[in-house]
Amino acid sequence: MLSKLKLAIVPFLFPAPFISAQPTATHAARTLIRAGHLLDVKTGKLLDGETIVVAGDTIQSIAPTAQITSQPGDAVIDLGALTVLPGLIDVHTHLTMNPNFDPYYEITQTSAKEAINGVANARVTLLAGITTVRNVGADGFVDVDLRDAINSGQVPGPHMQVSGPLIGITGGHCDDNLLPIQYHAVGDGVADGSPAVQHMVRQNIKYGADLIKICATGGVLSKGDDPQASQFTLEEMQAIVADAHRLGRKVAAHAHGAQGILWATEAGVDSIEHGSYIDDAAIAEMKKRGTYLVPTLYLEDWMIEKGNLPPFYHQKMIDVSAVAKSNIKRAMQAGVKIAMGTDAAVYPHGLNAHELDVYVNQLGMTPLSALQTATINAADLMGWTAKTGTLEPGKWADIIAVDKNPLDDVRVLQDVKFVMKGGVVYKNEGK
Ligand SMILES: [Zn+2]
Repeated sequence: MLSKLKLAIVPFLFPAPFISAQPTATHAARTLIRAGHLLDVKTGKLLDGETIVVAGDTIQSIAPTAQITSQPGDAVIDLGALTVLPGLIDVHTHLTMNPNFDPYYEITQTSAKEAINGVANARVTLLAGITTVRNVGADGFVDVDLRDAINSGQVPGPHMQVSGPLIGITGGHCDDNLLPIQYHAVGDGVADGSPAVQHMVRQNIKYGADLIKICATGGVLSKGDDPQASQFTLEEMQAIVADAHRLGRKVAAHAHGAQGILWATEAGVDSIEHGSYIDDAAIAEMKKRGTYLVPTLYLEDWMIEKGNLPPFYHQKMIDVSAVAKSNIKRAMQAGVKIAMGTDAAVYPHGLNAHELDVYVNQLGMTPLSALQTATINAADLMGWTAKTGTLEPGKWADIIAVDKNPLDDVRVLQDVKFVMKGGVVYKNEGK
């Protein structure tokens, strides 16, 4: 309720050119969404002529259009022949960051700049049909403030779970390694040894983190480390997971190298991010424990075509790209659970749905399974199954629409025509 009041005020605060992405706030008791086609992402069944009844921020009911007549005061949105489905979920974003890997740009980012990036990127992401994100890494807890600003209706953006600063070892992927020692640059989440990592988990939670993000191995876009080398020890990760889980937070582990993937999985993390060098032992352990794999593969295609990386990142990107897709494909075929993550920020925000095109048209996943990675599975990984991931009464009214059935061509998800989040319309190019 509070958020709707604030949204209604926004247009009076900004000149017209800046309000195009502001929601069309409706004061009606109910909103009826007339859907030409409605896709059930659980079964893949396409229903014709359905109406979704939205009350406040929630789906109240869904039934054949003939059965739901509008009442006085209802707002009616006729989406014509569009195909309606749940808003998509991206479980690996960095909304406060932009795709610029010039070292001087990187070291001159401030929390203020990152907050401004976040406001702009949250809007772009939402308008692309991503109604929920898990944001896995931001300096200075800027992501906490962005999440809160979105939730209060101050700025448009997706529902967010945020990690705050990435937790990692000294000199690792999650440290700041671009400057020599006299600058004393240290990443916000750097910690070594079990007591120190436990303290960092507790500190991140203190300042607003919904989940914990750690760096289990080296990475690509960091100076002087090896993506295949493990960084945290098994014992450090066990300490992290024990604290996080006891305090009600899930753990996401950045991991490229096979040993780091295995150790993080054995330590009990909830998801492995990237997983580029995943091997049979890691696949078996992830399957045994039900650990999610979050591949971030479209970024490789984008980088090869348009990337402009400094030399100390460039070779690592080539090496990882040479093996990641075939390894991830084996993990998919073996039945490891997959949730869609993109690493948006490594390439421009808003291209998130390209990730599903890679799963289907390069790795051979069925379109329905791919869609489930960005809906049902992603919601499960986030612990938000009761709130989102499917269109069902009682869940958030997070609803998108596209021109065609995405099961015929997942690329149609790259051009979303209608976006409602929490019962508020942010985009309507229907009809
Ligand atoms: Zn990332």
